[in-house]
Amino acid sequence: MSDCIFCKIASGAIAVSPVYEDDDFIAFPDIQPQAPVHILVIPRRHYNSLVEVEDAGVLGQALQAVQKTALALHLHSEGFRTVINTGDNGGQTVHHLHFHVLGGRFMTWPPG
Ligand code: 5GP
Ligand code: ZN
Repeated sequence: MSDCIFCKIASGAIAVSPVYEDDDFIAFPDIQPQAPVHILVIPRRHYNSLVEVEDAGVLGQALQAVQKTALALHLHSEGFRTVINTGDNGGQTVHHLHFHVLGGRFMTWPPG
């Protein structure tokens, strides 16, 4: 989508510093980090949200991209949190599917 900020990042029109990328996904730091490590993992293809993805393979590949991102950042030993905000009640503000990967501190529960 031409007016989607994450599509622009995915295509390279807006430059980021990727911490992981492959043909289908790119992971880069959140502009407003909520933890010492706060990465967004996005598919290069545009989906408005989690509920728009019909292909189970894409969902599996997305979680693999999250896993590879966490491994690349050595988050796996201390642990990390993965968040998918979906729709208004979910607090989604950017309507291009993305996975938050948060680490570097203890995460409290429940979320706000
Ligand atoms: P949501 O609230 O939709 O789950 O998360 C959207 C996230 O995207 C927010 O954490 C916000 O800080 C981040 N974000 C919004 N615009 C940009 C941007 O232009 N660059 C980067 N790196 N992150 C962004
Ligand atoms: Zn998009």
